[in-house]
Amino acid sequence: MKKGEALIKIEGMKYYIITFGCQMNKSDSERIATVFEKIGYKPASKIDEADLIVVNMCSVRQSAVDRVYGLMPKFEKLKIKNPKLKTILTGCVLKKDRRIFVKGFDQVLKIKDLLRYQPKYSNNFSVFVPISNGCDNFCAYCVVPFVRGPLVCRSYLEVLKEVKNAVKKGFKEIWLLGQNVNKYRSGLTRTPTHPPPSCRRQAPSTRNNAEVNFAKLLRMVNDIPGDFWIRFTSPHPKDFSDELIETMAKCQKVAPYLNLPVQSGDDEILRRMNRPYKISQYKNLVKKIRAAFKKYRKGLEREIAISTDIIVGFPGETKKQFENTVKLFKEIKFDMAYIAKYSPRPQTAAYKLKDDIPRKEKERRYKILTEILKNAALEKNKKFVGETLKVLVEAEQREYLHGKTQNYKTVKFEGPKNLIGQFVKLKIIDALPWGLKGILI
Ligand code: SAH
Ligand code: SF4
Repeated sequence: MKKGEALIKIEGMKYYIITFGCQMNKSDSERIATVFEKIGYKPASKIDEADLIVVNMCSVRQSAVDRVYGLMPKFEKLKIKNPKLKTILTGCVLKKDRRIFVKGFDQVLKIKDLLRYQPKYSNNFSVFVPISNGCDNFCAYCVVPFVRGPLVCRSYLEVLKEVKNAVKKGFKEIWLLGQNVNKYRSGLTRTPTHPPPSCRRQAPSTRNNAEVNFAKLLRMVNDIPGDFWIRFTSPHPKDFSDELIETMAKCQKVAPYLNLPVQSGDDEILRRMNRPYKISQYKNLVKKIRAAFKKYRKGLEREIAISTDIIVGFPGETKKQFENTVKLFKEIKFDMAYIAKYSPRPQTAAYKLKDDIPRKEKERRYKILTEILKNAALEKNKKFVGETLKVLVEAEQREYLHGKTQNYKTVKFEGPKNLIGQFVKLKIIDALPWGLKGILI
């Protein structure tokens, strides 16, 4: 091929990315966009205009995998209309699925091989900054360690550079991402000779690298001048140090919102899930976090909002064990919860166990928790009625603008579209279980 030929071919070609799963995948997709724009592709606004479709998939639950299988016939049809169309699959792909997907996609690529560039952010106010990749906790149900590999942390210098750049560009919300953010140690890697390009170790001149833990990283991000909020996800209860609790509460840019996945309210289930903590320790942790915010914050920020992740119907979960999760929900009164029905994942330890909780029973447990959550959330949301809150405006949906408060409550209100991406002050006039209603002041 002559020099420049590849580029000539690409001129006028358009790409379209479909992203499934967590914020980490969304962040990866922003980097994938840069990769294709660097070689000359332009973004397509609709899938049927694309010459290249990238699917960034998630394997955490079977339903997400099934959605990718569901796309394949659609791609076949699109290829009839546009014979030049190429399809790429990347993201979290299990070996077992890869064997089938190689037949349905033109290429199946490792995400690591795609991520050598700065992201092309999908908006100009909220940014995802990965601080680590992979996980080596091996929770019995979870596929992440198999599809993303062991924990590899980026250098703090690289993270700070990315945050500073985003703040300079006017971003208002910085999300620090990792599967286990509070196990962060700058430059920590199991594979120093072949680190993935996006997570390279820093040069030896940064001698203190190994000493930058997550609390220290938060302090450094907090010290960057500017008007922005810091959020992070996900922390693991087992790695939540007192230093981190105090740091979160003291760093005023850290938003008073925390997603703290518990997964089950029963000690025996937690043990079998390979989640090494007890419910008493989890409750104590929540108590300490709430107390720290009361101590170091003022006004409404003294009340930190806490959400969690739960799996119902883990193999062998008895009704009595599920009742312990119900009890935990009633005691903690979460602001939000991401409740999942157990889905067996190949390669994981739990895959060898019988998926013995019927679908209907999983559904029943899901509904019970949702109902408790709804009541707790409404009760909490009502406290905001009459208050004035700072809100980051995110989008327009059916005549209303939608935004998030510092503690991650969704607020809808009427206003001009040009407020998207800005901080506004809203007076809260109504509370619903899943959000608030406000008016601009
Ligand atoms: N690293 C994060 C979450 C990773 S996966 C953590 O440790 O919490 C996101 C969520 O998906 C998990 O919190 C869990 O609740 C859910 N999940 C993971 N594997 C699952 C499975 N096999 N079935 C159902 N839900 C699952
Ligand atoms: Fe999965 Fe557990 Fe790692 Fe979270 S901590 S990614 S649930 S193995």
